[in-house]
Amino acid sequence: MKNIHAEEAVMKKNAVVVGGGVSGLLAAILYAKKNYAVNVIELDSECGGLLRSNYDSLGVAYDTGTHIPNFTGIDEIDEILFGTSEYVEEHWHKITELNTGNYFENQWSHVSPFADSRHLPAVLYNQGIAELMQLTDSVDAENIKDFTKSTLGNTFFENIVQPILKKMYGQDVDCADLTMGANLFGITRILALDADTSAKLKELPVFDAKLGFHRKEDHRKWAKENNISPITYVYPRSDNGIQFWVNRLVAEAEALGVNILTNEKVSKIHTSSGKITSVELQNSQQTLNCDSVFWSAPPAFALLAMSVSPSPARATFRTAVIHHLNFDMPLTDDKSHYLWSWDKENPIFRITLYPNLRLNSTANNLSAEILCSPSEVEDYSKEAVIEHLKAMAIVPENARCLSSEKQIVHNTFPVPTFSFEKATKENYELLMEQADNIIVSGRFSGKHWLQSDVLKAAYQEISDACNQVEKP
Ligand SMILES: Cc1cc2nc3c(=O)[nH]c(=O)nc-3n(C[C@H](O)[C@H](O)[C@H](O)COP(=O)(O)OP(=O)(O)OC[C@H]3O[C@@H](n4cnc5c(N)ncnc54)[C@H](O)[C@@H]3O)c2cc1C
Repeated sequence: MKNIHAEEAVMKKNAVVVGGGVSGLLAAILYAKKNYAVNVIELDSECGGLLRSNYDSLGVAYDTGTHIPNFTGIDEIDEILFGTSEYVEEHWHKITELNTGNYFENQWSHVSPFADSRHLPAVLYNQGIAELMQLTDSVDAENIKDFTKSTLGNTFFENIVQPILKKMYGQDVDCADLTMGANLFGITRILALDADTSAKLKELPVFDAKLGFHRKEDHRKWAKENNISPITYVYPRSDNGIQFWVNRLVAEAEALGVNILTNEKVSKIHTSSGKITSVELQNSQQTLNCDSVFWSAPPAFALLAMSVSPSPARATFRTAVIHHLNFDMPLTDDKSHYLWSWDKENPIFRITLYPNLRLNSTANNLSAEILCSPSEVEDYSKEAVIEHLKAMAIVPENARCLSSEKQIVHNTFPVPTFSFEKATKENYELLMEQADNIIVSGRFSGKHWLQSDVLKAAYQEISDACNQVEKP
């Protein structure tokens, strides 16, 4: 019996997965299911990356900002990620429509994430509408500034789009340096005019691209007419937050024999004939043979481990300051799962309202996210954030904070400049010049950001790589 196992071990191909976030964990499970011997190398003391939950002094759980996964639509990975349909029913709470809204010019709009231009002073609004209605040519701009100036007009660019871009990517950012990737938050659309006029205008592609629906039923009707399937979101039924997902993926990987090495990193990568043959680990000083490498850590570290200088192009990431707060009375908003704040006077950009997301929640807790540069993290105190939340009427005026946690996460949202795009491309090309059996994936690859995009890409890349290896 022993000999058979030894023989199998010799026969198995080896995969090394660097980074144990959701993309690395999915990759590890996929490799293991394809009969690879898999090692996951995780820098931190635990796997999960940005999907790990945080706990305050009373043990209340919070996520690293809004993290509500959705089915990818690929049955094979949805079952790995969320379980069989029976398991999903038992352990996940399905959300067929996310309730969101946004705060702009000191007012709430609860229909969509798009800023409502009608909240601007009347003179600016009227001027903006006159410009917007005249802009009917299709636009092919490379940067987000030229694009939105040509679709929404100068007034709405200066009073809506530019302040939001600066809030997200830094006051010193030049919007002409931002690629269309800066549209991650849907800022190329606004709410304007009235509901019926918008719905009518949106029948024309040129207006559809710049206006949002005012009513959810209009959006549903449009999706049905265009055969767009609704996205189903899921959130764990447990009170442990999204950490439940990480625990599930780690358990699944380990049950398939995946070896997870935490507090570890790759110090050296050996290549031969255009392939990575082995990696050396910094702490345990082990050498792991590899037939395939899935790299979901920053690609620059792979280049350094190959003694290759990364691209000199500048890539900047925002730091997230997240205040996790638990109050002694219910939050004022009892419907929204999460909310955007586009107001320029208020540093918070998003709020997750857990009582509306967790089925059996007893805490009155939320997470308020702020993006800044690493040198600004001390500028945002808990007290100031609570004042903003009260001014926004999310938290009752007389509420008391019972417990809290301030989380600081560096290297989060990339600032999507042309320089970032160049660094991403050049680092990728440099790696491919060294070896063709490395998959550069996950959010650090710079190719995708949203969970479901990152996971779908990982699935496709591993399928392609394994098919390639299996070819005679
Ligand atoms: C504040 C915030 C809010 C977000 N909100 C949303 C949202 O609402 N919807 C959505 O779809 N997406 C959201 N995202 C994006 C989402 O978190 C990512 O898509 C997802 O976490 C990507 O997973 P990943 O495994 O690629 O990266 P990560 O989760 O970052 O995992 C990377 C892992 O690699 C490890 N690592 C780093 N360097 C090394 C090294 N040298 N060696 C070994 N290991 C290393 C890290 O410790 C980490 O565990 C948000 C992100 C942030 C920061």
